[in-house]
Amino acid sequence: MKKTIIANWKLNPVSLKAAQKLAASVPFKAKNKVVLCPPAIYLSSIDYPNVGAQDCFWQNQGPFTGQTSPLMLKDMKIKYCIVGHSEKRAVGDTDEMINAKVKACLAQKITPVLCVGFGTTVEQDDLEAVDLLKSQLSLALAGVEAKKVIVAYEPVWAIGTGRNASPEHAEQIAIFIQNKYGAGKVLYGGSVTAFNAKSYLQQPNIGGLLVGGASLKAGEFNQIINM
Ligand code: PEP
Repeated sequence: MKKTIIANWKLNPVSLKAAQKLAASVPFKAKNKVVLCPPAIYLSSIDYPNVGAQDCFWQNQGPFTGQTSPLMLKDMKIKYCIVGHSEKRAVGDTDEMINAKVKACLAQKITPVLCVGFGTTVEQDDLEAVDLLKSQLSLALAGVEAKKVIVAYEPVWAIGTGRNASPEHAEQIAIFIQNKYGAGKVLYGGSVTAFNAKSYLQQPNIGGLLVGGASLKAGEFNQIINM
């Protein structure tokens, strides 16, 4: 079965021309299913079969300066939306806000890509990490049909650091999240590169990857999506 590779471009690249060039470097057909998540301002200008947003608000319209609504995303044919990324949690997103965003996406038939794992450090033992994950997952998925949600397990110490969780650990967490919460798919994210991607994709319960830095490098990303 095809795995899902989600490219999180974060706040890159810094011009529409460069964003379109990067999107054009990704073939429409690859061995795995590919979703490109450019910055919100480029969303309607990226020509790709699966495009996702990096965040959204939980209200659809009204006096909410600077926000992007799931209703607007749907109107732009956006199929996925990352929610609860550690970089958004770090600037104030709470589990309750994330839960509201997940529900708002599902109401528009947008697949939420729920990121969990923030707060875990490489020093914490597995029990602590699992406690934290349990709390993030049960709050973010409260009242939600979890099988419609993609969960991305991203230990915060692995994001953009060049240090990554072992594939065996990520596989165990994927099994745990699927068994206990019934998530539709569990991805791994955190310093994925062309050198380590295959070791995650080979794990039977890891449904794909959330890729940050390496998704900005056309050659490397093409290798990853065809593994
Ligand atoms: C991310 O932003 O979700 C991520 C995993 O980044 P990186 O691949 O750069 O660690």
